[in-house]
Amino acid sequence: MKAISLFSGGLDSILAVKIIQEQGIEIEGIYVNLGFESNKEKIDYLKEMAEKIGIKLHIIDKQEEYIKKILFNPVYGYGKNMNPCIDCHAFMIRSAKELMPKIGAKFIISGEVVGQRPMSQRIPALNAVNKLSNAQGIVLRPLSAKLLPPTIPEIKGWVNREKLLDISGRDRKRQLELAKKYGLENFESPAGGCLLTDINFSKRLKDYSKHLELTPNEIDILKVGRHINYEGYKIIISRNQEENQILKSYKGDKFIKMFPKDFPGPVGLIQKNTPENIKKTAADFMISYTKFDKGDIIINDKIFLGQKKDKKEIKKYII
Ligand code: SF4
Repeated sequence: MKAISLFSGGLDSILAVKIIQEQGIEIEGIYVNLGFESNKEKIDYLKEMAEKIGIKLHIIDKQEEYIKKILFNPVYGYGKNMNPCIDCHAFMIRSAKELMPKIGAKFIISGEVVGQRPMSQRIPALNAVNKLSNAQGIVLRPLSAKLLPPTIPEIKGWVNREKLLDISGRDRKRQLELAKKYGLENFESPAGGCLLTDINFSKRLKDYSKHLELTPNEIDILKVGRHINYEGYKIIISRNQEENQILKSYKGDKFIKMFPKDFPGPVGLIQKNTPENIKKTAADFMISYTKFDKGDIIINDKIFLGQKKDKKEIKKYII
């Protein structure tokens, strides 16, 4: 008997795997990459954790599909920010369901805990996830299973319901005890998380999507730099070397690059088809973040003389 587990690398998802493995069931994990993870090291961490607990991990890139079908049109709306958690969970479960026949898995497990998260882990929300993903009866949540109706693997006896748990709420005490029991160490994911729950990222994303269509190419540039909306045109200016590299490596077709001609300074992106007078202002903004009062900025092979502006003035346009 084999099952597939949604695997975030967090303690709950590791415990869900452990509890089911203990019943002699083979587990493979799935991590659905949506592009909005803030931590670049996450994938390395996931691979390491999966190896430690003895599961094969499938990392599936679903950025494009997520943007097109879920992010801007969630059936169950958003949490506090741009996080469509119920639809998002359903999307992950649907992705796991797609993988099931390919790997011979008979059901899905998830580390969700009843009542742990305000939006997506209340019982009605879990039911909504099951319905939306069209996976009623095949999603087993081992940590809270005894608080939920029996699933097919329990009814058919593939899994012994008696050995499943009844954890609920935000208190992590029982999970920490279990971590001890299983000898788990260094189990929490490195700092970071889903940027869709971040207020500042969400503001940028909202502003961006009012003007332009999002593709996976733009996710990384939304994560960095100063984002300026000047008269409805988007300008992004890097803040440090690392951001210079990220903006330089932009491969999409929505923006063109801006560089200082012959002096050190930030890298910028400006929306394609921006009028010349706005490009000149963008050059002024670029210079304002250097130590120079004026200098040439190259925008699409053309040179614009940038002149320093008061930063307070620019701040009015920063998202
Ligand atoms: S926090 Fe982010 S990744 Fe997690 S369910 Fe919500 S939207 Fe999806």
